[in-house]
Amino acid sequence: MGRLKGVPNKYSLPTLGTFRPRKKIAFRVEGECFICTSHAISLQGYPVVRKYGKLITVSKHIYEECFGEVPKGQHIRHTCDNQLCINPEHLILGSHTDNMHDMIARGRAKHPSMKGVHKLSDEEVLAIRARNESNLDCMKKYGIALRTVIYIRTGKTHKDLL
Ligand SMILES: [Zn+2]
Repeated sequence: MGRLKGVPNKYSLPTLGTFRPRKKIAFRVEGECFICTSHAISLQGYPVVRKYGKLITVSKHIYEECFGEVPKGQHIRHTCDNQLCINPEHLILGSHTDNMHDMIARGRAKHPSMKGVHKLSDEEVLAIRARNESNLDCMKKYGIALRTVIYIRTGKTHKDLL
């Protein structure tokens, strides 16, 4: 997968297994997840890294490298539910409320692959498809993965609304 529209020039959407973060971060590929192996795990269960004299999660650092700053009041969520994963394609923005919803959704979900990711309404899908905003803006606005935006725009998903 090469560079995609909406991703800032100096970054390219990483290809699975070839992604090389700038800070020395090691990971092993497990399925589609990149499991961080080089950093200490916080009490909350996330690998952490020192940046600007502060400890932040490695996933936040990676997100910032690839997509830009995390807006205040938002935090990083994993579409794969794996706290050790640092695959930028699995990192999306969310609010604290989203997290609570995720936990509730997971608690009730019968199938382990059910993820508490924001479910888009038909209106939102159509708004994304209208291409008034860049892929990156849509990703942040709707709290979904960049891949999801691209899939919607190329008609790979939500075919019923085409
Ligand atoms: Zn993952």
